[in-house]
Amino acid sequence: MLYGAIEAGGTKFVCAVGDESLNIQKRASFPTTQPEETMKQVMDFFNQYKKELVAIGVGSFGPIDVHVDSTTYGYITSTPKLAWQNFDFVGTLKQAFDIPIAWTTDVNAAGYGEYAFGKGKGLSSVIYYTVGTGIGGGAIQEDRFIEGFSHPEMGHMLVTPHPEDHFGGNCPFHENCLEGMAAGPAIEQRAGKKGQDIPAEDPIWDMEAYYIAQCAYNTTLMFSPDVIIFGGGVMKQKHMVQKVHQTFSRLLNNYVKTPELENYIVTPYLEDDAGIFGCLALARQTKLDKK
Ligand code: ADP
Ligand code: ZN
Repeated sequence: MLYGAIEAGGTKFVCAVGDESLNIQKRASFPTTQPEETMKQVMDFFNQYKKELVAIGVGSFGPIDVHVDSTTYGYITSTPKLAWQNFDFVGTLKQAFDIPIAWTTDVNAAGYGEYAFGKGKGLSSVIYYTVGTGIGGGAIQEDRFIEGFSHPEMGHMLVTPHPEDHFGGNCPFHENCLEGMAAGPAIEQRAGKKGQDIPAEDPIWDMEAYYIAQCAYNTTLMFSPDVIIFGGGVMKQKHMVQKVHQTFSRLLNNYVKTPELENYIVTPYLEDDAGIFGCLALARQTKLDKK
């Protein structure tokens, strides 16, 4: 018996199969091109395991339709990646594999990975953000994703600009939203070079920490979660989490007593594997739900 996992990202798809204990048996990665091409590679991968496969968990880039009652449930909806607009992801999988399929956002899946195996293990309320090419957020409460008319879009929360920041943000929808001010491409446009090439002493990181700290502040006051996890490429700056702690403390100004910051605002235990392990854990969960 095997569980399948698909981490569908804007640049690449990672596929894996895992055993009953969710140990990965095989993993493969394919570039995100056109749906026909990429999905063929995905199908070919899972076809090798068709007999053993009992469920698949998918964490997809989006926005996606997560509403079970909707006629477009399981679709990628209004993505800027035109070829993938209105693509029936779950329907396409279901045609080939008539097994339970869990369907959620890429960031929810990564959050679920940390909830099942990482810094959220044993906790009831876990918030996960990725700070990478974009910024996304997901919220888990007692094993369920928090959602209403749709999944959260926490990455587009508004932030107050840093007094010395003259960059207006690059989100086409909003002025001063977190993603437009603090995702990797915003750092790159502001500095004229990629985040990975900017030294730790550069004051740009104080600005970045100011935005991420505002995100942690808003998250704290909205959810009072057990943990806030920040993953994604930008958080590979090792000094960032400590800067965020300092600025967060200043902003919060002791208004509420949070858990110790070292255990409260953290980076993911699973690092880049949070998403794929989350998809596997979701596959197992959806199989249990269907029993
Ligand atoms: P994606 O969001 O596309 O899935 P990542 O989470 O790796 O992928 O995010 C990519 C972004 O993170 C890019 O803008 C890149 O410049 C930035 N980035 C990657 N590594 C680092 C690093 N070590 N320090 C700062 N920024 C980084
Ligand atoms: Zn925005």
